Amino acid sequence: MFESLSKRLEGIFSGLSGKGKLTEADVNEAMREVRLALLEADVNLRVVRQFVERVRAKAIGAEVLGSFSPAQQVLQIVHEELIDMLGGEGSQNRLDLGGPPPNVIMLVGLQGSGKTTTAAKLANYLRKEGQRPLLVAADMYRPAAVRQLQTLGKQLSIPVYAEPMGANPVDICVHAVDYAREQAASVVILDTAGRLNIDEQMMQEVIAIRKRVQPREVLLVADAMTGQEAVRVASDFNQAVALTGMILTKMDGDARGGAALSIRAVTGVPVKFLGVGEKTDALEPFYPDRLASRILGMGDVLTLIERAQEAIDQQEALQTQARLQQGQFDLEDFLKAMRQLKRMGPLRSILEMLPGFNKLAALPEMDEALEGDPLKHIEAIILSMTPEERRNPDIINGSRRRRIARGSGTSVQEINQLLTQFNETRAMLRQLASGKGPWARLLRQYASDG
Ligand code: GDP
Ligand code: MG
Repeated sequence: MFESLSKRLEGIFSGLSGKGKLTEADVNEAMREVRLALLEADVNLRVVRQFVERVRAKAIGAEVLGSFSPAQQVLQIVHEELIDMLGGEGSQNRLDLGGPPPNVIMLVGLQGSGKTTTAAKLANYLRKEGQRPLLVAADMYRPAAVRQLQTLGKQLSIPVYAEPMGANPVDICVHAVDYAREQAASVVILDTAGRLNIDEQMMQEVIAIRKRVQPREVLLVADAMTGQEAVRVASDFNQAVALTGMILTKMDGDARGGAALSIRAVTGVPVKFLGVGEKTDALEPFYPDRLASRILGMGDVLTLIERAQEAIDQQEALQTQARLQQGQFDLEDFLKAMRQLKRMGPLRSILEMLPGFNKLAALPEMDEALEGDPLKHIEAIILSMTPEERRNPDIINGSRRRRIARGSGTSVQEINQLLTQFNETRAMLRQLASGKGPWARLLRQYASDG
């Protein structure tokens, strides 16, 4: 997400910090480059102009010129303004489900924008938050749409309300809310029909459903890859049905993601979630401050920690911790940890949240390193070891290494790499468990920030 923009901005700021004292001309020059970078990323022109003007005024007004670490201060101002552009730090980016249950969330948007997928993602997300969701197939425009939602519901074991083809979508939604009440569902998610383009019939249907069902949230699902077109669609929908929020999908692609940065500033409608993949867990709540940090290469450690908490089995983690404290971390534990890491999602998406990753990502060998399934070899190697070797990795000598390499279809070099990695991980975890050393300090720092 935003890799190329991020790389450009990092370049501009490291150039700036190389300068020491800044003149007004330095700031102007840097802001000219920032302006170009944003425009190339497809951020709306008017929004870019305002943004640059505000940063410039603040930077010059704040007397960063000639002061201590001026580049850092300019970066700070850009960070603040970026957060502002993305919607600020208030609660308007959160879903409002504060009404008497069932709270209705209505999804609207063009065909192919990702409504059906997002309905399932949202249901899955809300269930994790303790809600009891009901999905509603209100897209009577295409028979396949109903089946698609039913399949997703089945996968997730989340109930789907549907009626035979030909039923009236407004009636379906009204019946679904009654049904939700009977079933004590707490949230109802309506997957409405889209069209390839905005048309009158679709809008009338959406307006009719909104009127009858009185949804708590009316969310536009928009495809971020369509760039400024998404911004236009958002404005049109907002005029017709008064949106309460937006979900931008396909943010996993880098192309023209900048539209997503300006859509809120142009339409005034807050972005509430980002879709970041095709799977049902590829949905992220939208936090302007975290996204701004990510774009400026400052990392997004908070999201990373949340993902880890979701992926990690608490019981297993406690057991591992207890074993660590007794100095017992072995290759079995290592394999478990690697499997948990895998549950957190693709490696690239994890690394992207770490500060400074963009510099790393620029290296040609990273592409190769991040392709494929890094766990596959690790798993094969560890499974080729005897239980004794897994518990006592220190006994794995040269001849054992050759045997394991043959057994796992890998090379001795790969075995060496794995054992090194294991030793480093063990050392890091011992530090964490003992509360001493740099890793422990880092963890404490983030814990106190949160
Ligand atoms: P609908 O017509 O609005 O209901 O759109 P669908 O939910 O059927 O999605 C259209 C296509 O977009 C499907 O192939 C989805 O898998 C894909 N899609 C939806 N959201 C995302 C996303 O966040 N990332 C990616 N890569 N694909 C997505
Ligand atoms: Mg659909």
